Amino acid sequence: MSVLLNGIGVSKGIAIGQAYVLYREQPEIREYNIPEENIKDEIKRFHTARKKAHQQLHEIKQKISADVPQDISQFIETSLLMLDDPVFCNDTVKQIEQRICNAEWALQAQCNRLVKVFDEMDDPYLKTRKDDVIHVVQRIQRCLIDDEQATQADDETDHLKGRIIIADDLTPADTILMQHQKIAGFITEYGGPLSHTAILASNLGIPAVVGIHNAKQLILAGEWLIIDGNEGMIVVDPDKKTLKHFKSLQKDEKQRKRNLFELKNKPAKTLDGHQIILNGNIDRPEDIKTLRQFDHTGVGLYRTEMLFLERNENPSEEEQFETYRRALRALKGKPLTIRTVDLGADKELDSTLQHGPLAHNPAMGLRAIRRCLKEPDQFLKQLRAILRVASYGPIKMMIPMMTCISELDQTLELIEQAKEELKTNKQRFNPQPLIGAMIEVPAAALSAHSFAEKLDFLSIGTNDLIQYTLALDRIDDEVSHLYKPLNPSVLKLIDITIQAGINKGISVSLCGEMASEPLYTRLLLGMGLKDFSVQANSLLEIKHIINNSRIDKLAPEVRKLLTLSYPDEIEHEVFELNKKFS
Ligand code: PEP
Ligand code: MG
Repeated sequence: MSVLLNGIGVSKGIAIGQAYVLYREQPEIREYNIPEENIKDEIKRFHTARKKAHQQLHEIKQKISADVPQDISQFIETSLLMLDDPVFCNDTVKQIEQRICNAEWALQAQCNRLVKVFDEMDDPYLKTRKDDVIHVVQRIQRCLIDDEQATQADDETDHLKGRIIIADDLTPADTILMQHQKIAGFITEYGGPLSHTAILASNLGIPAVVGIHNAKQLILAGEWLIIDGNEGMIVVDPDKKTLKHFKSLQKDEKQRKRNLFELKNKPAKTLDGHQIILNGNIDRPEDIKTLRQFDHTGVGLYRTEMLFLERNENPSEEEQFETYRRALRALKGKPLTIRTVDLGADKELDSTLQHGPLAHNPAMGLRAIRRCLKEPDQFLKQLRAILRVASYGPIKMMIPMMTCISELDQTLELIEQAKEELKTNKQRFNPQPLIGAMIEVPAAALSAHSFAEKLDFLSIGTNDLIQYTLALDRIDDEVSHLYKPLNPSVLKLIDITIQAGINKGISVSLCGEMASEPLYTRLLLGMGLKDFSVQANSLLEIKHIINNSRIDKLAPEVRKLLTLSYPDEIEHEVFELNKKFS
């Protein structure tokens, strides 16, 4: 019988496929003694499981596409090497012989021993390598236990193709790996609409619904599902009529998207002649390929965190330089706005998580520019890399999460220091790239005029601006119903920022998710926004609205709307505005 489940749609589109329930729980390992005469058999059992694990990983390696991030392929490579490592194998065999115990437990003892060695190392990079050991050991243990459900955990890529993944939560790296494995969509039990994983899913065009508590209990592996990412709804075990209805919606959606392709590479210009800048958001240089499928555009937000998250540590200056250069080359002359790293809160390194409990309020803690200013040596590496790349093409440098002007002063001083260091080393760099800040904290919005005086551009980050203005966690599904971009206070802060830019004659863009939502395009145009940075798959839809709008008609209506007090009232007026001018 069909069942409807409601959650939060975080990535639009309709997906139809069979459920693949992802279990991450570690296999339960029990120790037991084996009869001495069975030692040989137990060793054989260990080797069979080891070979099976090897086979699984080898198949994954064969099936992932060539442009999978280097870190993921390296991770698989290291795991394969470890599975063949004679020392690792012999030591496990020795544990079986000496303890006269089951292979699962021998592996656990071996794992504990190795993890202890890694933990005692000073080198932070090597420390994180213990994850590889844990992964390999658990994979063999799962093969030993041969539990259907447990083996599913990291199963072969073919099993994921066309499937809808059900998980408690997903990390950004999981999401990228699964996109390479061609999943149809995903459902998670936790996670809010503006988590980095949700944004990534939307960017990658994977329909997704989050916040379906108990999804793993309610949905059975293999069951047919429909995800409606537009409505935040799941249909479990749909009947024929429902399936037909959603297939036809899916078809219409595809046709609508195909029609929008007429706008590819055409200018974004309103009917009353205003040229609008319409850029894309990316996480990795590879994303530019996706961007170009929709439009030959620049990048208004390159979130550099992914480079750090994929490696799970701070990349070197050289690695950053090469990566940013790759992005610049791929853009073939279009501008690239590199945002300095915004680690913390929903974008945290595993290695940091392993070093102790998180702060109680990580979103208000040592995040983004605060963290960079606390670790200037790391920050200088990134600043130098960006300044160097800026000598090869149109690069803008953007600083996230500015709160007060003194943070900007400290940052500008560090940029000067980075230039001095490059000069001393006789390295090529651009001494005057455009420098801007993200306005995503209410304090910064209220002082936008002061920031505008010292900078070349501002960019509004509504994902955080809404979180901090309305005091609600963007990744907590329990409060997602309160997450209202049309709250009058949020709109006032956006307005103040846009007006500060207009008054000082600098550009103001908006790169938060609000820019990618067609419902808000006319509102933002009416507020005076001339620069949007959006997700790849929203580019053409937003362009379509821009090209069918008149700012001279929208502006007076929007001014009236901005005087309203109730979010619902504003929402109603925004709907009316869209109806009237579409
Ligand atoms: C934002 O806060 O709107 C933004 C674009 O930054 P992020 O989502 O990466 O925090
Ligand atoms: Mg932000």
